[in-house]
Amino acid sequence: MDFKLNKQQKLMQELFRRFAETEIKPLARDMDEAEEYSMELLHKMQAQGFFGIPFKKEYGGAGADTLSYTLCIEEVSKVDASSGVTISVHTSLAAACIHDYGTEEQRQEYLCPLVSGKTVGCFFLTEPNAGSDASGLQTSAVREGDEYILNGSKMFTTNAGFADTFIVIAVTDKAQGSEGLSAFIVQRDTPGLSIGANIPRMGIRAASNCETSFENVRVPAKNRLGSEGAGFSIAMHALDGGRIGIAAQSVGIAQGAFNEALQYVKERKQFGRPINAFQNTRFQLADMQTKIDAARLMVWRAATMKDNGENYATAAAMCKLMASETANDVTRKCVQLLGGYGYSREYPVERMMRDAKITEIYEGTSEVMKMVIYGSLKSK
Ligand SMILES: Cc1cc2nc3c(=O)[nH]c(=O)nc-3n(C[C@H](O)[C@H](O)[C@H](O)COP(=O)(O)OP(=O)(O)OC[C@H]3O[C@@H](n4cnc5c(N)ncnc54)[C@H](O)[C@@H]3O)c2cc1C
Repeated sequence: MDFKLNKQQKLMQELFRRFAETEIKPLARDMDEAEEYSMELLHKMQAQGFFGIPFKKEYGGAGADTLSYTLCIEEVSKVDASSGVTISVHTSLAAACIHDYGTEEQRQEYLCPLVSGKTVGCFFLTEPNAGSDASGLQTSAVREGDEYILNGSKMFTTNAGFADTFIVIAVTDKAQGSEGLSAFIVQRDTPGLSIGANIPRMGIRAASNCETSFENVRVPAKNRLGSEGAGFSIAMHALDGGRIGIAAQSVGIAQGAFNEALQYVKERKQFGRPINAFQNTRFQLADMQTKIDAARLMVWRAATMKDNGENYATAAAMCKLMASETANDVTRKCVQLLGGYGYSREYPVERMMRDAKITEIYEGTSEVMKMVIYGSLKSK
């Protein structure tokens, strides 16, 4: 077992870190306040190849491994969690679905532009009445000749405000329950699609999250991903991979807040001493970095299992559960270490604390992660 990054991974980590520090960090606060993502920044990240890291070069990707992809999400999320989820949803949920289940024709038409940074993707699973129980979807897809006609609505879709290519999960046979769902590739400009305004939120406020309605949206049958009825397993498979990305985002949020706090406690003086002279401060920091390192190792384990072709679903659920709890615990403690300044918007830790909460909710809540983990338990 090797716990070290190889030369290539270290180089990529350095590149991601430098870009995050110089290009993303200076914008993070203003984007959060404006509740809007900078399209200029998005285009810069596309030009750097951040939207195609784990995909083959022949499709326009970087040809890197999943671990390198998690390094990108972590470094970016250290300074701005909204940027982290924008890349993660595009990569793990949208592009990965087409890569893993698309025909060669679908890959050429939709995956190549996604991966080479020409288009952005998003993933429509959740609906107003179907969240944790995705088998309860109501959006319908009715076959008519060479087309499917989609009707219904989707909720909370990340990137929906500016994405070009949508993966939509809809019901093709209600009687079959979860085996009656199918996945479709839908283009943004398809008539009948209307995307609502950004949903006001507690955190990751710069990211795009919208409700979308489908009214007689006609999708060519050739845009179905996989076979009819395969939609649920396509979505669950995508979420297994997505959870590694969200866990990496959580590690980034935690490490970013920790770094801010570590700097602050060296400079802030009370009772005639810097507050890092107090044992309580030191113990808090020691506990935090230990938990962050443990979460990161779990992310690397899940990513490595994915790259090795092993079944990584449980490892992905475990790292998301652990890393998201760590992000919430650490950011809350960092706000405390900065006192009133931590609570003020002058320092980024309050934003990081707000951003951390969503990691326990999206791509499966912590309760759903425990259901996945419990379901895999066998006596050892
Ligand atoms: C900012 C944001 C971005 C998102 N991005 C996307 C996206 O890009 N694409 C997409 O498809 N979805 C997206 N989602 C949706 C997200 O995945 C869902 O919100 C999440 O899966 C939970 O579903 P829900 O909100 O309907 O909560 P519910 O399923 O209603 O759950 C409410 C509570 O009940 C608990 N609960 C439910 N069932 C059980 C059970 N059996 N046992 C124990 N507890 C249970 C849950 O854990 C939770 O605490 C996003 C959501 C947000 C807020």
